[in-house]
Amino acid sequence: MTPLEEARRLVIKIGSSILVDETRGEIRRDWLEALAADVARLHRGQGSGGCEIALVSSGAIRLGRTQFKLAPGPLKLEESQAAAATGQIQLAHAYQEALARHGITVAQVLLTLDDSEERRRYLNARQTMGTLLGMKAVPVINENDTVATDEIRFGDNDRLSARVAEMISADTLVLLSDIDGLYTGDPRSDASATFIPEIREITPAIEAMGGSAASELSNGGMVTKLIAGRIAMAAGCRMAIADGRRVGALGALIDGKARCSWFLPEASPLSARKKWIRGSLKTAGTLTVDDGAVRALSAGKSLLPAGVTGVDGEFRRGDVVDVKDRLGRVLARGLVAYAAEDARRIAGRKSTEIERLLGFRGRDEMVHRDDLVVE
Ligand code: GLU
Repeated sequence: MTPLEEARRLVIKIGSSILVDETRGEIRRDWLEALAADVARLHRGQGSGGCEIALVSSGAIRLGRTQFKLAPGPLKLEESQAAAATGQIQLAHAYQEALARHGITVAQVLLTLDDSEERRRYLNARQTMGTLLGMKAVPVINENDTVATDEIRFGDNDRLSARVAEMISADTLVLLSDIDGLYTGDPRSDASATFIPEIREITPAIEAMGGSAASELSNGGMVTKLIAGRIAMAAGCRMAIADGRRVGALGALIDGKARCSWFLPEASPLSARKKWIRGSLKTAGTLTVDDGAVRALSAGKSLLPAGVTGVDGEFRRGDVVDVKDRLGRVLARGLVAYAAEDARRIAGRKSTEIERLLGFRGRDEMVHRDDLVVE
């Protein structure tokens, strides 16, 4: 099996320059049709239960520029915000139409930098996307450029896509761009530049290959791809930089017929996440649990509210808490699904009572097993 056939949760980043025809400033329909067919193929899977897929697509600002007939050259912030506002509709519609032909539901998700930096919003976005993937929808994600200002924006979808991959614990991220991978130099100007098929660590030497900061001026140069690689690898997600320009480029990658550079992490997404939980320096509170819960935890199960006998500390949803037995021994550490105040209300109660007790229906688990590290 090729790496893409193996993927179970995949993020594909689509650059503006490959989706939008440069001269007409419109979507390349033939390209998108082929992409949709290839996405559908992966989504169905080959007798393997299929692959969950999220697309991070650029192009909103470029399409809006065409719509408003804006002159070439850099746009003012308010112009790009306005362009994105109309371009995003076209973008979402195009994906919806193309994927609907394959019976796939598309769901639009617009994120801001805060959604990935601020814990509560991060968890919220993570949960929504998890739910959409569970419903077999394909989220089409972009930055919310209409409300993003210069200070608080990603500005490039390379980093955004890596954050998304981290957020949803994807195992694979593919950056479809206009170059087939990482080279020791810029192959467009340096004939001696050689292709690097595999990267296991982003060393200063690798960073130097990404080019100078000057290329950072163009959204999504190699610099931002390497930053994306760093984020993805830390999250246990492998990442490919691949040439997406040709019609059917994704299909060629799936079949292993096109080369690309792979960034390969040591850990899996789950173990990277658990390492992060284990390594967090400060815990915000403690949950004390009964003997039944102790047994459940050591059997690899989630911690349910019913097993919680005490809640200490003032924590928020998504904070790291210690889990102790009734003798005060720390058994586990995890990301708690409820704020301290709510946790106190549902402690010792059945999950079916949560909605009545809190007035909203949260998660069944106090700490989900994916968010739990047992000592
Ligand atoms: N979010 C921008 C757009 O959709 C693109 C950012 C990028 O080119 O990476 O137009």
